[in-house]
Amino acid sequence: MMDDMADHILKSRYLLPGEKDFTDICRRVAGWIGRDEAESGAFFRMMESGEFLPNSPALMNAGTPCNQLAGCFVIPVGNTITGIFEAVKQGAIIQMTGGGTGYNFSEIAPAGTTAEPGGAISPGPVAFLSVFDTVSEVIRQGGRRRGANMGILDIRHPDILAFIDAKDKEGKLSHFNLSVTVPDAVMEAFEGGEREEILSIHPATGRENTIGSVFDAIINGIHRNGEPGLLFSDAINRENRTPHLGEITATNPCGEEPLLPFEACILGSINLARFIEESTLDWKRLERTVRLAVRFLDLAIDRSSYPLPENEDAVKKTRKIGLGVMGLHDALILLGLPYDSPSARECAEEMMAFISETAVDESKRLAEVFGPFPAWEGSVWEKPVRNATLTTIAPTGTISLFAGCSPGIEPVYSFAFWRNNTAGAEFEVIHPLFSARLDEEIASLGYHGDEGRARQKAVIEEVRRCGSLQHIGWLSFEFRKLFVSALDISWRDHLLMQAAFQRHTHASIAKTINLPHTTGHEAIREAILSAWKLSLKGITLYRTGSRRASVYSLTGCR
Ligand code: ADP
Repeated sequence: MMDDMADHILKSRYLLPGEKDFTDICRRVAGWIGRDEAESGAFFRMMESGEFLPNSPALMNAGTPCNQLAGCFVIPVGNTITGIFEAVKQGAIIQMTGGGTGYNFSEIAPAGTTAEPGGAISPGPVAFLSVFDTVSEVIRQGGRRRGANMGILDIRHPDILAFIDAKDKEGKLSHFNLSVTVPDAVMEAFEGGEREEILSIHPATGRENTIGSVFDAIINGIHRNGEPGLLFSDAINRENRTPHLGEITATNPCGEEPLLPFEACILGSINLARFIEESTLDWKRLERTVRLAVRFLDLAIDRSSYPLPENEDAVKKTRKIGLGVMGLHDALILLGLPYDSPSARECAEEMMAFISETAVDESKRLAEVFGPFPAWEGSVWEKPVRNATLTTIAPTGTISLFAGCSPGIEPVYSFAFWRNNTAGAEFEVIHPLFSARLDEEIASLGYHGDEGRARQKAVIEEVRRCGSLQHIGWLSFEFRKLFVSALDISWRDHLLMQAAFQRHTHASIAKTINLPHTTGHEAIREAILSAWKLSLKGITLYRTGSRRASVYSLTGCR
């Protein structure tokens, strides 16, 4: 199930003293969460078989003195120096436990304006970003993961241009993802071609930030290096299930969990590929796993420790859980559906609708026994449920490596590539389904023996070089279509897949819309508008090759 890299990560960062392999981790985690032997046994089997895994902090911390199980947190940032540094401190405490933190900085007074009663001048939100970033850098030295933050600013904040360019050079604010929140009214004006409308006037400099200038900066930033992302604040709040507790203004670092101040969320993902048998989905087994996963995550809320008392209060009011999926692309290949086809989207939608409906049903059952989440009265849920939101789509950056599947709902980036291990040596990674099907494809085309081997080698080398096999004309059309990878897929098809999932997901979706290197500004503009019109809650775009440090190294074609 695990390749060399997964094994290395596991050994260097996840195993506790006395643990020797992944099975030991599953035993510890399941034993800690389950209430009796039978329940722990069921949790263990679900994890050990690779059908479901909880997020990294649960794998690292369950049953240890730290015992903090949530991956996602949101911390409010005030508008006074005391409030800002309170958030710095709170973020540090959370990151020590392996959690990622999201902050909305919009309340901080613009740079150069008088901020406090004493007449002090505000450095502005952008200056404070580096304080939070430095803290993450320091904390990382004590912890087992790089600290991850989401920094958010409202598009109407007067410092918005400085914020958009805060990461203009690679390496700056490396512990942050940046996102701009945009309300519908601004998106409507942008869609209508409005440029001159003023979003804000900077009180210190008098500069007018117009829709045209701010969106130009956003689009330039995305073209430059993939930042900022956008968060559509009205779409997020239309689906706020507890509006009586307040508006949602922030998400966790990868964007999949819009949360109220101090809320945290424990995530867990089901590996869809594990449910495909002989080209069909085993719905019965999927149903059992969804129900078990909901019980696991709901129990985990009570079995977790919380970095701050405010986190515990907020979490136990709404009891949000983050059930998601991984291995989508692998599952689609096993079903014979090209990722960018309408039939793949229909299938994805059917799977996610089933998962969400089953999860809600299980949450209702739990509410009958243990009561609804305490803030249920006044929420949008008509019938009592145990959890205010249940479903999300996480990136599953590490847990998909442990499960040996494609991450989250992302397409495979490249079916063959070189990867550096920690000692700096290069080794080749070939997707196992691709490798097996390529052999069959070559044999079915009538190439055997040395000729077959030579052709196989040539295909793999070509895929390693450019991340694609679409241009290898002698392979069958069906084979090429089935093995489309991230850069073969148009931004529209990426977005349509995100939308298919969003329609059946309570929280949000972590997904990167990959763009070829040659993508221009106009396509980025169109993609932003399409995302908003598809009722997505946010969008992250990335143009290939626009950062030097990238996870994969492909040379050639694009
Ligand atoms: P994993 O696969 O390790 O469980 P994901 O890649 O699914 O994690 O990320 C889920 C969430 O976990 C992110 O949105 C973020 O909130 C948090 N997270 C991810 N990486 C880090 C990190 N290095 N440090 C802190 N939090 C992180």
